[in-house]
Amino acid sequence: MSAPALSVVIPCYNEAACLAELHRRVSAAARASAGDSYEIVLVNDGSRDGSWAAMQDLARNDERLVAINLSRNHGHQLALTAGLDLCSGERILIIDADLQDPPELLPQMVAEMDAQGADVVYAVRRARAGETHFKKATAKIFYRLLSRLTDVEIPLDAGDFRLMSRRALDALLSLPEQARFIRGMVAWVGFRQVPFAYDRAERFSGVTKYPLGKMISFALDAVTGFSTAPLRLASHIGLWLVGASLLLLLYIAIGWLSGSTIQGWTSLMLVVVILGAVQMFVLGMIGEYLGRLYIEAKRRPLYIVSDIAGRAAGRPQLGH
Ligand code: UDP
Ligand code: MG
Repeated sequence: MSAPALSVVIPCYNEAACLAELHRRVSAAARASAGDSYEIVLVNDGSRDGSWAAMQDLARNDERLVAINLSRNHGHQLALTAGLDLCSGERILIIDADLQDPPELLPQMVAEMDAQGADVVYAVRRARAGETHFKKATAKIFYRLLSRLTDVEIPLDAGDFRLMSRRALDALLSLPEQARFIRGMVAWVGFRQVPFAYDRAERFSGVTKYPLGKMISFALDAVTGFSTAPLRLASHIGLWLVGASLLLLLYIAIGWLSGSTIQGWTSLMLVVVILGAVQMFVLGMIGEYLGRLYIEAKRRPLYIVSDIAGRAAGRPQLGH
């Protein structure tokens, strides 16, 4: 069994309503750019809505489809990692299950990869339809803040929708970390990476699987994974506070000399409250890194596979 020219890897969490349409459109796009030599790898990330049954059905009727069932919800980035570990194509397309990233762009992305001799063609969102102002605004701020904090050039406004060469994917899979911010890790890998602008569509069906809580932990993984600037912030704040306390010392000395030392409850409280808040913030920041160090130190597998359906059933893989 030789490796297919193209693998399309799709993480799915409660996307049952999208799967049939997804399969139809992705198959058409894959056929248009790779003929018969492609595979579609669907990863069920512990869905509770019948996604797995729908995937098994699709796999029964399409020998090019491989479906992986994870043992529980491991999160978007780990589900994606599971699919990337298992796929075997020479080129790999990563795409969301909700059809916000149009599969029809694939032939253009392949053409771009060939024309530029690139290892990665990453799709940059020009416009985003059907998303809340809050989501768009926080995403915009997030990517800009991230690029200021890190030395790795992580592209602005690009998600995981991208086409990669086998050697870029193998390099990506050699990074062992647990807290995976894949779009940043791909940037870190290097090689020639070129942007590809597109307009993001609305979800085909269902609602976002990224509520605020998941967005925050995703952002924290990105920042802590790619920057130690927040740790340095602690010493900066400390330095400024030393300067401030020198001024305060002067103020106290003047008060003492002029005999009006009883006053000052307000300023005292202010100092106590502000100092307390700053210390808590800095401690929390250190805690974020420490917690991640602890998780990495355990070296657990990244995900656990429960079942595999389709023709890849003979090559089970359990994490790293
Ligand atoms: N996803 C996943 N596991 C999760 C959350 C999301 O596999 O715990 C998948 C989801 O099915 C989709 C992709 O990750 O294919 C992106 O999620 P979504 O479209 O909900 O995010 P948004 O586009 O709203 O940022
Ligand atoms: Mg989406």
